[in-house]
Amino acid sequence: MKSVRFHEHGNLDVLKYEDAPEPKIAANEVLVKVRASALNHLDLWLRRGVASWKLFLPHIVGSDIAGEVVEVGSVVKRVKDGDRVLLSPGISCGQCEQCFKGLDSACRSYTLFGVLVDGGYAEYVKSPEMNVIPIPGDLSFDEAAAVPLVSVTAWHMLMTRAQLRPGEDVLVMAAGSGVGSVAIQIAKLVSARVIAVAGTDAKLEKARALGADEVINHRQQSIAKEVKRVTDGRGVDVVMDHVGAAVWDDCFESLATYGRFVTCGTTSGEEAKLNLRVLYGRQRTLQGSFMGGKGELVEVLKFIGQRRVRAVIDSAFPLREAAMAQKKMEDRDLFGKILLHP
Ligand SMILES: [Zn+2]
Repeated sequence: MKSVRFHEHGNLDVLKYEDAPEPKIAANEVLVKVRASALNHLDLWLRRGVASWKLFLPHIVGSDIAGEVVEVGSVVKRVKDGDRVLLSPGISCGQCEQCFKGLDSACRSYTLFGVLVDGGYAEYVKSPEMNVIPIPGDLSFDEAAAVPLVSVTAWHMLMTRAQLRPGEDVLVMAAGSGVGSVAIQIAKLVSARVIAVAGTDAKLEKARALGADEVINHRQQSIAKEVKRVTDGRGVDVVMDHVGAAVWDDCFESLATYGRFVTCGTTSGEEAKLNLRVLYGRQRTLQGSFMGGKGELVEVLKFIGQRRVRAVIDSAFPLREAAMAQKKMEDRDLFGKILLHP
């Protein structure tokens, strides 16, 4: 099958469009013909190399996958040939205490498509039956590939971790990212007020179209000052971020008393300085968030199937141009998800 793999870690030029062996399924697995896959920032980290994750090389990344079932293993019961499906990105054992509690991403054997197993930058991918979910509503393959990872991430951050409540104010950093564009919509579902942050007016206009009530252009305005202005000096109840070091001070300063800061990433750097006196004095909470459970994905997919939360697609590239697609992501020249078509 055609695939995009890398044989060594490095820059964009390590991505090779080439033949790879077609995956062989086990009795409890399903073979999916990939019709669309989506990029995530994770793909860039993995290509460059993450010290704590030892990948098998050559390696195929890609955590968001939609396609058609073309073969099922002998003990597979629920899924059949021809089904239109998306894959839940997180793979866990399904039989430990954390998995039983729905805390899939806390499972000790947790991984994602494209991390310790091959992912979606290919014509075919194999999946445990447990990860195969029917495409909800009348979503296209493109729309279905655009939603899984960012939807479960944003849902887990806002609903499960930060426990966002109706009427609260939420600051969505990097509103043009995949997770940001979904977070705006989830926050509006629960009638929160959304303040969206991005670096261009074009992105902020799109954020408004998704429901953002207020917008901040971080290249022209001070985030913390604007938040204070919009909230009459009070600050926001929730800050959701994955930018990290470059915006940490602004994020922390923007929090109201009892505010919650929730993060799922550090694209600009991971070291931050914290004033503990302000943390306790203002009774703030810092929360880490990583992916979410299959149950949470199914929950948010209901709204996506009803088109009350919609997939935000930036662009699509043929699989062979995966390096160009990743460059677009590196340049932050995007609003929503970038897709690949094998
Ligand atoms: Zn488990």
